[in-house]
Amino acid sequence: MISIISALFAVIALCLTGFLLTFEVEVSLNGAKTVSTEVFSEFDDQGAKAYISLSALGIKTEIKTVMTDNIDNQKLGTYKKEYKASFLGKKATVSRDVKVIDILPPEIVAEQETIKIDFKENPDIDIYNMPIKYTATDLYDGDLTNKVVKTYEKDGCLLAVSDSSGNATSLKVMFDYVDKQAPKITLENNNTLYLPVGEKYSEITYTAIDEVDGDVTNKVVVSGSPDTSKAGKYTVKYSVTDSSNNTGYAQRKVVVYKKTDKKEDTTVSPITKTVYLTFDDGPGKYTEQLLEILKGYDVKATFFVTDQFPKYRDLIGKAYADGHSIGAHTFSHRFDNIYRSIENYLKDFEKIQAIIKEQTGQESKIFRFPGGSSNSVSQKYSTGIMKALVNEMNQRGYTYFDWNYDCGDTSGYKKKQIVNSVLKHIKTRLKTENYTIILLHDIKAETIKAVPEIIEYCLEQGYTLAGLDETSPNRQFDVKN
Ligand SMILES: [Zn+2]
Repeated sequence: MISIISALFAVIALCLTGFLLTFEVEVSLNGAKTVSTEVFSEFDDQGAKAYISLSALGIKTEIKTVMTDNIDNQKLGTYKKEYKASFLGKKATVSRDVKVIDILPPEIVAEQETIKIDFKENPDIDIYNMPIKYTATDLYDGDLTNKVVKTYEKDGCLLAVSDSSGNATSLKVMFDYVDKQAPKITLENNNTLYLPVGEKYSEITYTAIDEVDGDVTNKVVVSGSPDTSKAGKYTVKYSVTDSSNNTGYAQRKVVVYKKTDKKEDTTVSPITKTVYLTFDDGPGKYTEQLLEILKGYDVKATFFVTDQFPKYRDLIGKAYADGHSIGAHTFSHRFDNIYRSIENYLKDFEKIQAIIKEQTGQESKIFRFPGGSSNSVSQKYSTGIMKALVNEMNQRGYTYFDWNYDCGDTSGYKKKQIVNSVLKHIKTRLKTENYTIILLHDIKAETIKAVPEIIEYCLEQGYTLAGLDETSPNRQFDVKN
């Protein structure tokens, strides 16, 4: 009996030993094999479970795991965390990859989130170079201010930055425009347009620019349409309103004038009648305006020039470029100097010719004596000087022009008087003659005002307005001194 029991125990012991010899230690992860955790925060470990398993009996018993703790949550990187278990000399290990990552974008702080832009206060503002104050900081990278990329746009400046982990952030500093400036309308062809009756009026020559809205030409409202079938003065009005409700205005005067074309009108004499408007003593402060008027009517004139107003010298070149005739009048216009001797006169004459050459590329073959060739003022300075000068200048090959009519502008005539007297002269003289040379002065404001009506009358009559040259019909007075 005892031996049977002993034998039984021996069998059990044998079996147990066998079992013990075949047990396994297992470790398995809770959660994923690879996990991420945010930098600076505590890693929330799901841990692992370890068992001893006796597969023959289907028994599993949990045992303790030991894990390494090598994760530095202050530093980005991938850490391998190991979970270990052992029992009676048997061991098992599993590991998990723990990535310490940065998912927080940097933060940009601007000193001003909107910047007021006032062109009226500061017209030179360049919004594409506006200074903008800001800082950019990242929890992990620290100060990123100098990595910020600025992109200027019309409505603001976009600040953008990424941290070393590629987390991006941006902030737009907005521009708040204080727009009190009305848009500016610019009319080409000056502000006055000259059109012969019957020519088509087309409205294309303007632009409108607003400091804030930019080009607003297509918002311009045009009102008034000249009736080009009738001579008259018309006004075309322009207005444009910007997005801040400021309205800019402009006006154009349209002069519609009658022009008789001889070639087509066989009822008029086929002989061309010419009016030579001659302007002395300039260029001066009204000359540019006069040139615009002449250009508007597309007519030519003659300028007997001086250097009395040197800052307008360029207008000699401009008049020449516009197709007008340039003649010498005098450099100084000082009778007491130029009529004292031939030598004095020639010195002065050479000086004005030098300026004419500088402005037009060549000297002029035509000239006009100050006071005209018949003046007797010169007698005060030198007896017989005019006769001597006429002789001298003829010998030198220059042609001088006096005039058929003096418009009276140096006697203080007002516009109406100038117009009336000149038109009366033209009507009378051109009844029997083919030309007239009229003396005017482009340094007189009233003269400039009178010119359009004189031109309009001539064009309506079918007369030509032309510049003089040495082949033109001439009027030379009888020399008195
Ligand atoms: Zn003069």
